[in-house]
Amino acid sequence: MAGSIIIIGAGIAGLSAGCYGRMNGYDTRIFELHDKPGGLCTGWKRKDYNIDGCIHWLVGTNPGSNFNRIWRELGALRGKEIIDHDEFFHFEGTGGKTFVMYTDVDRLERHMKELAPEDADVIEEFTGAIRALSRVDMPLPKPREVSSPLDGLKMLPKMLPIMRPMMKYRKTSMESFAQRFTDPFLHEVFTNVFNLPDFPLLGLLFTLAWLNNRDAGYPVGGSLEFSRAIENRYLNLGGQIDYKSRVERILVERDRALGVRLADGSEHRADVVVSAADGHATIFDMLEGKYVDDKIRKRYDTMPIFEPLVQVAVGVADDFAGAPHSLSFPLPSPIIVAGEERERIDVVNQSFDPTLAPEGKCVLVSTFMSNYPYWEKLYEDREAYEEEKQRIADAVVTAYEGRFPNLRGKVEMVDVATPITYKRYTNNWQGSFEGWLLTTGNMREGMIKGMDMTLPGLQGFYMIGQWVKPGGGLPPAAQSGREVMQIICHRDRRPFTTTEP
Ligand SMILES: Cc1cc2nc3c(=O)[nH]c(=O)nc-3n(C[C@H](O)[C@H](O)[C@H](O)COP(=O)(O)OP(=O)(O)OC[C@H]3O[C@@H](n4cnc5c(N)ncnc54)[C@H](O)[C@@H]3O)c2cc1C
Repeated sequence: MAGSIIIIGAGIAGLSAGCYGRMNGYDTRIFELHDKPGGLCTGWKRKDYNIDGCIHWLVGTNPGSNFNRIWRELGALRGKEIIDHDEFFHFEGTGGKTFVMYTDVDRLERHMKELAPEDADVIEEFTGAIRALSRVDMPLPKPREVSSPLDGLKMLPKMLPIMRPMMKYRKTSMESFAQRFTDPFLHEVFTNVFNLPDFPLLGLLFTLAWLNNRDAGYPVGGSLEFSRAIENRYLNLGGQIDYKSRVERILVERDRALGVRLADGSEHRADVVVSAADGHATIFDMLEGKYVDDKIRKRYDTMPIFEPLVQVAVGVADDFAGAPHSLSFPLPSPIIVAGEERERIDVVNQSFDPTLAPEGKCVLVSTFMSNYPYWEKLYEDREAYEEEKQRIADAVVTAYEGRFPNLRGKVEMVDVATPITYKRYTNNWQGSFEGWLLTTGNMREGMIKGMDMTLPGLQGFYMIGQWVKPGGGLPPAAQSGREVMQIICHRDRRPFTTTEP
């Protein structure tokens, strides 16, 4: 046996680290506070409906892509049908026009030119950048800690084709790009795509390139089934998971992590501790803030995060066939969430996944980014908290019935998850659903560059998951679990090996 590793958290990062640890002969044990795997990548049941809590698009679903290798090694997509949507979303403008973000770049270009021929130059520039990024299948890089300058040189030719759009747009935000359209409708669309004004345009360009390559699909069965597939792979590799096991402290002696203490007081030891749990809780609670430097403190004090969500899921006795799978429409009167007026609503029509609802029925889901302190305060008064959830649920159903009058009388189930729900179930800092938010501001300031998996002055310890991979998401989480085992194998002078089930 190569040595023992304790992993905190059975989200995608923790499960991935467990799988790669077992593939390399380590004795691995995961402690997870919840009673099931997946962390944020989860789902739950209400009445006859399965509510999906995560996957909209999953990068790496194309069997020919480089990233797909990680999903194959983790057994994540085995036997699963993948749906590649032809449309990313439909956007209905305030003036009555409809824009469709087609996933095929040629079709998208034609559609945009029909809507705004006067903006042909900007449109061609936009679709040209998508095409450039589509031509490159991002190689799986070795982690910085184990790569040599030669590895960097070898990567260079593979990266060259995307260097131009990367350099050109690295400082361009969604908002500043939207301003380049003279057509007011395209301006409205691009201002509202993610509703994050300083989000880098590159984030949208990469997403559209992956969608264009049919490499960002949806695995039928949903998020919890996806997580269970990786849990299954881990268990088949001989790994151990303890559920309902909250880690309270990381045990340290002479600046070396030796194990963990659980909430029940039991202590468990290993050669290495890997935290795949929330970054803030790991650094400031489990390690009592003893291993931080100014850079880490500044990051946690000032860097923006993806704000937590209010998710409203509505089960309807209608198959909703023919309606767009993702639609954004303006509201006749605003919905107020956490004291803020929302003038439009996005609806995901999950009828494309028959496993989520009984035949002839489907789940419609809307999410609103929201403010954690508001919900934290409200939760102190449980009655007021429940009333607020009910008020939002009613407002969403009214909005749906206004836009789709045939839904009246067909609503069978409404479920509301709040930032408190996400915090309670995953312990993520301020209930964040994806960790650090990418903005052109923090890219400019170099805040997101080189986030380390280690903490200053602490040996035998690593951090993985969305809090060390800015921008978050499932692929970076899984990749960080693989990378940490590459680093540990390198440190132990063992070759890093992988297998596929
Ligand atoms: C609504 C929604 C939609 C999303 N859509 C997508 C999408 O379409 N595509 C995509 O790629 N990503 C998406 N994401 C983001 C993605 O789910 C996350 O970035 C990713 O799952 C993070 O994985 P992780 O393993 O780093 O963290 P987590 O999932 O947070 O896992 C951490 C685990 O640690 C456990 N834990 C925490 N503290 C302790 C403790 N003290 N002791 C023991 N265990 C502990 C938690 O219970 C959890 O299981 C979405 C997220 C949400 C919520």
